[in-house]
Amino acid sequence: MKVSAIIKKIFLWEILKGLALTLSRLFTKPVTRRYPKEKRQAAPGFRGLHALVRNPVTGDAKCVGCGLCAAVCPSKCINIHTIDGPDHQKIVERYEIEVLRCVFCAFCVEACPYGAISLTEHFEYSNYSRDDFYMTRDKLLSNWDKYMSGKKGIEYFERFWRPKSEDFTAHDDQAVFSGSRPETERPDGD
Ligand code: SF4
Ligand code: SF4
Repeated sequence: MKVSAIIKKIFLWEILKGLALTLSRLFTKPVTRRYPKEKRQAAPGFRGLHALVRNPVTGDAKCVGCGLCAAVCPSKCINIHTIDGPDHQKIVERYEIEVLRCVFCAFCVEACPYGAISLTEHFEYSNYSRDDFYMTRDKLLSNWDKYMSGKKGIEYFERFWRPKSEDFTAHDDQAVFSGSRPETERPDGD
């Protein structure tokens, strides 16, 4: 063992270093916030309470009931009930999320091909009743109206969720579906 290592062992160097750090912190400003009196704005893209995206044109949910979000959900906390509409069109009769079972992984947002579900920045929803954490379709749509409608919702999908069709690239000689490669990169007749 080297002499310097022996000296460090004798004088408990690591402990002295730790104590010096503690002492230096005694004279710095505390970082603890006095919540709920002092609040911090949630960072954009925060994974808070769920919302179903409202179609700005029709005013209804964008969800088509494909069930991908429920299939990918590791907590199995998404329940979707669909019925057959006119011309065998799928109608989402019920869309429910048991929020108390959710682990906020956001796999549902990532899996949804229609950008129809989101996690809002809202995180202050503690309550005394379990029923309040059972989010129905109407509650989820009103969450969108309250926390994500307008520019915020557009920015949420633009900034945080990928891949988009334009993110896919292919080799020059590989056949690609229309729209999977930017127009400028496509050879004639592709
Ligand atoms: S965030 Fe994760 S756990 Fe929660 S509903 Fe979505 S997929 Fe399920
Ligand atoms: S993946 Fe999207 S469109 Fe499909 S059921 Fe879930 S929220 Fe609706």
